[in-house]
Amino acid sequence: MKLNTAVIHAEQVVDPIHGCHVSPLYQSSTFILPNFDEAVRLNQNVDQGFVYSRFGNPSVNEFERKVASLEHAESALGLASGLGAITVATMSLLKSGDHIVFGDVIYGCSFALFTKILPSFGVEYSIVDTTDVAAIERAIKPNTKVVYVETPANPTLKITDIRAVADVVKQHKDVKLVVDSTFASPYLQNPLDLGADVVVHSATKFLNGHGNVTAGVIASSKEIIDRCRMPFLQCFGAVLDPFAAWQIVQGMKTLAVRMERHCENAMKVAEFLDKHPKIERVYYPGLATHPTHEIAKKQMRGFGGMMSADIKGGVDAVRTVMNNVKVFSLATSLGNVDSLIQHSPSMSHFDMTEEERNAVSIFAGQVRLSIGIEDAEDLIADLDRVLAMV
Ligand SMILES: *Cc1c(COP(=O)(O)O)cnc(C)c1O
Repeated sequence: MKLNTAVIHAEQVVDPIHGCHVSPLYQSSTFILPNFDEAVRLNQNVDQGFVYSRFGNPSVNEFERKVASLEHAESALGLASGLGAITVATMSLLKSGDHIVFGDVIYGCSFALFTKILPSFGVEYSIVDTTDVAAIERAIKPNTKVVYVETPANPTLKITDIRAVADVVKQHKDVKLVVDSTFASPYLQNPLDLGADVVVHSATKFLNGHGNVTAGVIASSKEIIDRCRMPFLQCFGAVLDPFAAWQIVQGMKTLAVRMERHCENAMKVAEFLDKHPKIERVYYPGLATHPTHEIAKKQMRGFGGMMSADIKGGVDAVRTVMNNVKVFSLATSLGNVDSLIQHSPSMSHFDMTEEERNAVSIFAGQVRLSIGIEDAEDLIADLDRVLAMV
């Protein structure tokens, strides 16, 4: 199946009892097992049937198989949030005494996980600019087990060359490359095809697309996913609720048309902001002036719906803009059908110090825009009106 067909039909569950057109929702915490011997067998082999919803659930499983199919992965694991996915994926690959290399521009709570939580369990870290492949090579040490890349990076939209990083990582036998591909979704890029070992998504964002669910997913080899499920998810318990999984599966059916419109609208908004006298700088990988535009062109099928912009006049100008938008909503999160605006330094990236943020171009006067699928003219008019007020 090609991509537009796959987002709708891949792994669709057939209901053998009533022939439901939409996959049934299996809202059950436990499963009735046929007999004692089967109960014993399934408890040891949770990938072969359903025992208890913390180990696996049919509605969650449909979502997992759909994502695995779109990411060209052997297997996938759904979790209660993107951070749940990132925590389980990285902790399943790391133990005390190991080392992780990660990018200097990543989602703020991932940054907190790697700099505050993992070190308290004895995991060392190095922060590098992952767009500089030589810097990654230099940062890898004998105890390195994970190289973690977020591309496009939240919030400055830096693009890391996944294939080039994978080529370096593959020279080190025990190191795995984990890519957070949330901003792209499987519609715009497939990190595993480019040599990554693991891909993680916040399914809260583009995969679901409607802002009504918090969820995450890991896609990788069956070996890695089985280990993420048992014992890691089994013990961490960041389990995806069946109803949430069912909602994402419905949301994913429009992923292709949504992403096309997100990309088209974002390009128009980026071009408008790029020329606007009140805007200092626009961060959108679709603009030829973006420092990693060429890599984006090479590894993505479109430039996505996310961008940031530095507004002249700093925080005061940001306040005016954010308090007066009407079509955009002042909200964190992203990837929804409707457009959102947030202030990265105080919202998504509050876990970094001001010094750390300034070093990677997350400036005080910066807003991040999640461009929705409304009419681009209305989005541009909304921004034009509020920028005239600053
Ligand atoms: C939102 C986000 C996350 C975290 O996902 P949650 O579902 O909020 O836990 C991780 N990575 C990126 C790039 C994100 O935008």
